[in-house]
Amino acid sequence: MKKTLWLFGNWKMNHGPAAAEKFFSEWKQLRQQPFAAGIQVTLFVPAVSLAAARDAAAKFDSAVRIGAQNAHWEKSGAFTGELSGPLLQEIGVRDVLIGHSERRQFFGETNESVRKRTEGLLEQGFRVTLCIGENRAEREAGKTKQILLEQLGAVFTSSAGNEPAVCSRYLDQRLLIAYEPVWAIGTGLTATPAQAQEAHSWIREFLAEKCGKDAAAKTPILYGGSVNPGNVETLMSQQDIDGALVGGASLKPADWNSLVLGASKVL
Ligand code: PEP
Repeated sequence: MKKTLWLFGNWKMNHGPAAAEKFFSEWKQLRQQPFAAGIQVTLFVPAVSLAAARDAAAKFDSAVRIGAQNAHWEKSGAFTGELSGPLLQEIGVRDVLIGHSERRQFFGETNESVRKRTEGLLEQGFRVTLCIGENRAEREAGKTKQILLEQLGAVFTSSAGNEPAVCSRYLDQRLLIAYEPVWAIGTGLTATPAQAQEAHSWIREFLAEKCGKDAAAKTPILYGGSVNPGNVETLMSQQDIDGALVGGASLKPADWNSLVLGASKVL
């Protein structure tokens, strides 16, 4: 039994404002009862849909949060195409997804830029979901653990050799880690529950080593990669899996509603 389950959806480059409103009105028809206690839902939507999704979510259930899919570490400036913390705060957005593999793969995001975004946004008061994960070649070469530790290590660094600032200041459930094997994202291939649990246990060990056991135990670690209503319960029952980051199955209200219901069985 778990006390809290973090169910996060990533709409990627789908659902404009009208589609966002439609999503929530259809979900309202489908949902028969409020979420089980302990369910935390956030949907990361395209920038242009943030305000519409925020309003529709507030009418649907004030517990549903709306987040941005990326944001810059600087508060303002000459960064064409980027969103900043203050711009998001102005419209009431408090969640940001950082380091998604599609940003790393297609838009040149590096461990260093991911660190800057994570630190900058945590500093500005956001809740950050930091994505990490190995690609297929890295898994096949037996390098999964090494890659995860490198990606985490880039964020949990301390120039002074002390405990990294992230530990003492942000491991209060304001930093969540999403383990997303790149080969499982949008492919229909899911990590087996054992593969996912193993990776999550490495992440938990890393956090314990850097920040202590308490902080590690409190940090939500989400699994992402072709999670759907049929596999969510088994994945969520793994000891170190505290939630899911879901792409495709978060786009249709019927799938998303069944996924939330399925996951709720582990609470
Ligand atoms: C994602 O976009 O983070 C993701 C996990 O996508 P999917 O669920 O479609 O694999």
